[in-house]
Amino acid sequence: MPTNEGAFSASKPRPNSATRVPPPGRVHRGSRVTRVNAPERAAVIDLEAIRHNVRRLVQVASPAAVMAVVKADAYGHGALPVARAALEAGAAWLGVAHIEEALPLRAAALTAPLLAWLHTPDSDFGAAIAANVDLGCSGWELPRIVAAADLLGRTARIHLKIDTGLGRNGCTLTELPALLADVARHEAAGQIEVVGIFSHLAVADEPERPETDAQLATFLAAVELAHAAGVHPSIRHLANSPATLTRPDIHLDLVRTGLALYGLSPLAGRTPASLGLRPAMTLVTQIAHCKEVPADQGVSYGLNYRTPTATTLALVPLGYADGIPRIATGGPVRVNGVTYPVVGRIAMDQMVIDLGEAGLVSGGHSLLGAEAVLFGPGDGGEASVDEWAAAASTINYEVVTRISPRVPRVYRG
Ligand SMILES: *Cc1c(COP(=O)(O)O)cnc(C)c1O
Repeated sequence: MPTNEGAFSASKPRPNSATRVPPPGRVHRGSRVTRVNAPERAAVIDLEAIRHNVRRLVQVASPAAVMAVVKADAYGHGALPVARAALEAGAAWLGVAHIEEALPLRAAALTAPLLAWLHTPDSDFGAAIAANVDLGCSGWELPRIVAAADLLGRTARIHLKIDTGLGRNGCTLTELPALLADVARHEAAGQIEVVGIFSHLAVADEPERPETDAQLATFLAAVELAHAAGVHPSIRHLANSPATLTRPDIHLDLVRTGLALYGLSPLAGRTPASLGLRPAMTLVTQIAHCKEVPADQGVSYGLNYRTPTATTLALVPLGYADGIPRIATGGPVRVNGVTYPVVGRIAMDQMVIDLGEAGLVSGGHSLLGAEAVLFGPGDGGEASVDEWAAAASTINYEVVTRISPRVPRVYRG
């Protein structure tokens, strides 16, 4: 586990690990092994970066409050540590998709307002109400939420979810008057309290598109309908990360930020730094094998890559079971101050980089055990999550969220 900044910068030779005599054959001739205090395999999460990002978002969103969206294990960063850091730094709310993601936060004694918005008929509304978890409600959930509240003798806190154009969850404007009549009746009976009303944006990451304004107009019409029906949710929320960063006019009472919390940019062509954000996750491992091979050596399943010259190959012990997309051949790996593309297929557990002829001579020693960084904040020259997203034809959200539980999370800050 890294304990200081040095763990991510210059390599520190560890002569005591260099005494092993390399076996003959294809193992690298050099006997000196470069080691750093890199974790074997880790997603290192910088909680100070999370706090920094939250402070930034609180400043941007003010006077609206900030909900830290920690669904999907905080986009792969670890829900509990991230939730704690976010609340410390000024987030007022927590948000998750599923009730099952909310309950562990309550079990860990986090008492901040907490919303879960994606349910099925089998969702445990009773457990949510008992744990004081607010529930998104598109309509069909209402009788089940009311029944669960009745059973507990408690008042369920709900947020009406409006479909303003995304076409997923939410009540349409056409269905809304009928839902509001039921909502008003159950609220009068003390079975529910309508705390909020919200919707989700479809194209906020493309600020030039007109649909966001149309969604806003539909949302405000829904709020009007609610008031007309005697339902007065005090918290209106619509903005996700991109809208928080680009549309101060639609922050309303609360913004729901996920990606930006983790220091990643939701906007094409905008770096995190240009948005005042710091990427929180560094994916790091150690070189697991390093050896010389002749020209025309095939590499990994399918032998899709053949070494153009005699060269040195280094094995990186992360693969698709760790959440590295198999399609991401060519993705950048930083070793000893140089960035190498992954060559050949990414396998379940491992992938290979070609150190090139320079690898043979550079320092004249094996890189076995050397720190290998796939992505991070960039202060060590390593690649960004966005570069891995490009290599995998996907988005930064997916890259960090898919880092699997097999990769230990290590916390700093
Ligand atoms: C995931 C999610 C968010 C957060 O979106 P980001 O773009 O990551 O900020 C906000 N609201 C809802 C309903 C979501 O599902």
